[in-house]
Amino acid sequence: RFADIQQAPPIEVFHVMKAFADSTHEKKVNLSVGAYRTDEAKPWVLPVVRKVEAELAADMTLNHEYLPILGLESFSTAAAKMLLGASHPAIAEGRMTAVQVLSGTGGLRIAAEFLHRILKYNTFYFSTPTWGNHRLIFTQAGFTDVRQYRYWDGKTKGLDFDGMIEDLQNAPENSVVILHSCAHNPTGVDPTQDQWKKIADVVEERKLFPLFDSAYQGFASGDLDKDAWAVRLFAERGFEMIATQSFSKNFGLYNERVGNLMIVVKDPSVIVPMRSQITLLVRGSYSNPPSHGARIVSRVLNDEALFGEWKECIKIMSGRIIEMRKGLQERLEKLGTPGTWNHITAQIGMFSFTGLSAEQSKYLAEKYHIYLLSSGRINMCGLTTGNIDYVAEAINDAVCN
Ligand code: PLP
Repeated sequence: RFADIQQAPPIEVFHVMKAFADSTHEKKVNLSVGAYRTDEAKPWVLPVVRKVEAELAADMTLNHEYLPILGLESFSTAAAKMLLGASHPAIAEGRMTAVQVLSGTGGLRIAAEFLHRILKYNTFYFSTPTWGNHRLIFTQAGFTDVRQYRYWDGKTKGLDFDGMIEDLQNAPENSVVILHSCAHNPTGVDPTQDQWKKIADVVEERKLFPLFDSAYQGFASGDLDKDAWAVRLFAERGFEMIATQSFSKNFGLYNERVGNLMIVVKDPSVIVPMRSQITLLVRGSYSNPPSHGARIVSRVLNDEALFGEWKECIKIMSGRIIEMRKGLQERLEKLGTPGTWNHITAQIGMFSFTGLSAEQSKYLAEKYHIYLLSSGRINMCGLTTGNIDYVAEAINDAVCN
């Protein structure tokens, strides 16, 4: 009954965003939500996206008819090629299939439902810590055996590789393992290539099912191929695997919900029945995906000149983040802020796991109107040349206090 409904906990990142929006402090800074900001602290519509949007608006042949249940094929094929590499044998051999989904989150949800309901997996692993939504998505899709593998080492402010390997070695067969393909959220710490090879060994030995969450391709290093290295390693080693791709960050298309679900299998004959099952999962949840964002991405990925323009945009975004990392580390070191700060530049992607405590985060919000998550995760894009001194001095104060 309605009267018996319990209050659900707030989603922290949206809660913090609201606190920022409500603040009237002139120097307020939003370091919470994972969205790109320009050096003027403004959202950025990529110029190539604006250009394609104008073309789409002028194209009188387009309409608002439904897309097929599995989405726009020109989009999903191009997206899969971007992740696997266009010449990957799985594509030529017909062992890959891809469907358009509701961004990264929606892709994970369909993947989780497919794994649980159709393939009967029930155990899943995620890293400690991970993006806050992994647990929710998988449990809501029906998984009941929720497990974690170690990832972040607070002492070294880096990867707890031995802990990760040990936990995966102890995983029961047929567990699904969620791996961040690059720019791990929230730590910004990725395994090295050698470490990825060892992770692949364990996944193979223990008969685990790899699921790559790819939310930051191109955003991490500015190089699409480099950021896809781990996914390609697994695909080359012949794993059956799933990868979900989000185009929220690398295209700045957050609210358009543009995503792709890619599955690589060993035997091409399973693809037709597999797609038929995914069709039912999608039909019974949202029927078919929206087209606007997927059309934009499809046009860009399938046109050499536009693709080149987009790559420049990615470089601008990742380059600005790297500059802010350097700037923050330099300032904290100059201020003599207790502790080490080299992890800020060692980490990659949108976030830095600063090592700041929940109390220090609260202190920053209350005294300085600087808003970050209680885990100490900051969105590097929230820093600008205009606020970086203010933020560094505030962090210094919070650490010294
Ligand atoms: N996975 C990770 C690790 C993320 O950080 C995000 C977004 O923050 C997503 C997936 C999904 O984002 P979206 O649903 O906007 O594509």
